[in-house]
Amino acid sequence: MINVKSLTAVLVSALILGVLYLCNSLSYSRTSPQQNITPNNITPKNRLSADVNAMSNEVHLVAPDHLQYEQPSIVQGRTDVVTVTPWMAPIVWEGIFNPVLLDGIYKPKNITIIATVFAVGNYIRFLKKFLETAEQHFFVGFKVHIYVFTDRPNEVPQVTMASGRQLMVRLVPSSKRWQEISARRMELIQILIEEQLPNNRNYIFCLDVDSEFHGRWGSESLGGLVAVTHPGYYRDARSNFPYERRPSSRAYIAPGEGDFYYCGGAFGGLLQEVHQLAKTCRHNFEADAKEDIEAAWQEESHLNRYMWINKPSKVLSPEYLWQDFKPRNPEIHIVRFSGVVKNYAEIRPNP
Ligand code: UDP
Ligand code: MN
Repeated sequence: MINVKSLTAVLVSALILGVLYLCNSLSYSRTSPQQNITPNNITPKNRLSADVNAMSNEVHLVAPDHLQYEQPSIVQGRTDVVTVTPWMAPIVWEGIFNPVLLDGIYKPKNITIIATVFAVGNYIRFLKKFLETAEQHFFVGFKVHIYVFTDRPNEVPQVTMASGRQLMVRLVPSSKRWQEISARRMELIQILIEEQLPNNRNYIFCLDVDSEFHGRWGSESLGGLVAVTHPGYYRDARSNFPYERRPSSRAYIAPGEGDFYYCGGAFGGLLQEVHQLAKTCRHNFEADAKEDIEAAWQEESHLNRYMWINKPSKVLSPEYLWQDFKPRNPEIHIVRFSGVVKNYAEIRPNP
């Protein structure tokens, strides 16, 4: 039998503990994992504002409130591909992330995803499919601003966009050399970001127009500096990468150096990171030009040199820029974005 004295003692202790718990929750942000076990007869505690650290930077990820999702594992997962670089950046492949969880983390951050795409000269013909498929697959449910750079503003197609998504058209001069059109993108991206920088929590992706989306490209790709491994070289030895090999170029990478061969057709990250990249590549490209040297693959070569020195914080697998003419390798479980087959002679202003 419980006597009255001990019952009172128990009740008083419970009351004190309750008050202490409340004070603790109110005065600190969450410092220990939240209690997840909620027996049926107890309603889950509503999250106190003090539970959530309001910092909205890149590294602080807040769990969506009570979202049910599959238990993660550290012993089971993909074994056919490498999912982390030697400098500990994730390499994104299908099957290693939970899209629902990631969207639940990133949507409340109220970020805008900027995408740039150049459609100069005949390349305007690719824009319609690019924009239509971006509606279906690229950051669906997020605020997305797509900047189209073109010399043919009247030919920009009308594509219905979901709410929160916008298209901006910017006029750029045409050029007689495709190399210049391709390389000048860095300068125009640099200038665009300088205007956008006050919103420096936002992200940007710079994409080739001669490509279409076929699968999700979303919040799993967000990172400080994001690079895509080139579908043509990711199984090769680095001695075979088409890096710039002349030491006189500012894009030079010596034999035995370099990590991966990255695409010039897709890269991104936080505005300030991509600004630094674009500014550096533009500067080096122009300084080379003054000495009459053009790197093997123009801005792609400069990007590869930049990403070798300034390691990307997230690397995207070739799922994020495949090529339509290439048969799928077994490790490619999904193609998210892919370059269309094109007739260079027909569309480029020069051979
Ligand atoms: N580009 C353009 N007009 C041109 C040449 C290139 O708008 O005449 C832009 C376009 O966005 C294109 C990108 O530059 O996707 C890179 O060129 P391209 O796709 O031809 O290079 P590849 O992917 O074949 O290496
Ligand atoms: Mn391309």
